[in-house]
Amino acid sequence: MSIKENLNHIKSSLPENVTLVAVSKTKPDAAILEAYEAGQRIFGENKIQEMTTKWENLPKDIQWHMIGHVQRNKVKYMAPFVNLIHGIDSFRLLKEVDKQAQKHDRVIDCLLQIHIAREESKFGFDEAELMALLSGKEIKDLKHIRIVGLMGMATFTENKQTIIEEFTGLKVLFDRIAETYSDERIQMNTLSMGMSGDYKIAVAHGSNMVRIGSSIFGDRIYN
Ligand SMILES: *Cc1c(COP(=O)(O)O)cnc(C)c1O
Repeated sequence: MSIKENLNHIKSSLPENVTLVAVSKTKPDAAILEAYEAGQRIFGENKIQEMTTKWENLPKDIQWHMIGHVQRNKVKYMAPFVNLIHGIDSFRLLKEVDKQAQKHDRVIDCLLQIHIAREESKFGFDEAELMALLSGKEIKDLKHIRIVGLMGMATFTENKQTIIEEFTGLKVLFDRIAETYSDERIQMNTLSMGMSGDYKIAVAHGSNMVRIGSSIFGDRIYN
């Protein structure tokens, strides 16, 4: 199927309240333009350099989401244009985003990445760290970021029950936090969970933002 057909197929299966991020990492501009022509405006990348080059070359009404692990020394390159950063996993990183956003007179929306997978390798806050961050007073000084939700990645497994448990856990945490914290800096409205292999489970368990790459653009080839 073509990119357009894949997109339409996925979009028709998503409830209206779920935002689709088309993950275009490693894919050429032509593939992104094909999705763009089909109406897609939100694209996700996991490397800041690659995203910046694409931002320079492609239509300016594209909203770019950084979905990967962020190195602090590279935040400055995306600060002029990034629309949402999914992978905030430390206070130091949040502080750097705030600093760079200020230089461009912007407020940058961020999601806090929560470690939900059993695998050791995944980045993110645990629940105690999250609570400490949100209730701490340091966050109040950051006037150029807004925390709009949480992001999580389930364990890479065939075991559906494990994935359900991890997504459900994140949804429960999200709801609790959304009830507890709400001010100018913290406006919990986005729960980013679900990729090509597990987005249906994620949506069934409360996700309202899915990050889908290979089911739209085909398999990625890494050199
Ligand atoms: C690559 C990536 C995706 C998309 O993965 P697919 O399996 O191709 O849909 C989603 N989220 C993150 C964080 C990624 O790095």
